[in-house]
Amino acid sequence: MFEDNYRQRGLRQKLVKILRQKGITDEKVLAVMGKVPRHVFFDDALLNHAYEDKAFPIGEGQTISQPYTVAFQTEKLSVRPKDKVLEIGTGSGYQACILMELGATLYTIEYNRVLFEKTRDFLPLMGYKPFFIYGDGSKGLPAKAPFDRIIVTAAAPIVPEALTNQLAEGGILIIPVGNLERQRMIRITKVKGELIKEDFDYFSFVPLKGEKGWG
Ligand code: SAM
Repeated sequence: MFEDNYRQRGLRQKLVKILRQKGITDEKVLAVMGKVPRHVFFDDALLNHAYEDKAFPIGEGQTISQPYTVAFQTEKLSVRPKDKVLEIGTGSGYQACILMELGATLYTIEYNRVLFEKTRDFLPLMGYKPFFIYGDGSKGLPAKAPFDRIIVTAAAPIVPEALTNQLAEGGILIIPVGNLERQRMIRITKVKGELIKEDFDYFSFVPLKGEKGWG
């Protein structure tokens, strides 16, 4: 239903090389970045940009994240096969495919109805079948908690307590936190009930909306 030709596979391997140069070292993450097609998420007019290391518009004022950002968050999340993972901000579904290629059982929430419906209909055609949820992910997904891993792919003003509460023992949350211009990538690990916080680089995401986001 979509083409993945020699040229596109070649461009993907070049992208993997760029990710390596930028500091991504996890071979499993690099392998799945080299496997999942990104061009299928692009409109025809933007197709030539699919394997540039840049974020791009996906409609509704939202973006498909930059490949480096996807690889960085995924690397820091250390997903293990069969981990129960919550993704907040389904968007195009590209990050969801990466997580599922690593073996995650994925629950993915989207706040924008148009994107939710588009991705819910498209991803299964690619062979990826996460649990799709329409709603406000800033409150997590208490009905399905706890989660081994939680990833937030939009800029949060704070770390919502609901999310750390929904982490399993040994669980990891990765979330960009800051203002609307830039955010620091934060990783929180739950160890014997304690929350261990680590700070990484700055990134720039679209805002997390909803009750515990920017409203
Ligand atoms: N992971 C996406 C991908 O691979 O394309 C990138 C997502 S984009 C940078 C951020 C997404 O978060 C947008 O689709 C936006 O509508 C969604 N979003 C914003 N606030 C949200 C919320 N409270 N709950 C769920 N999704 C939200």
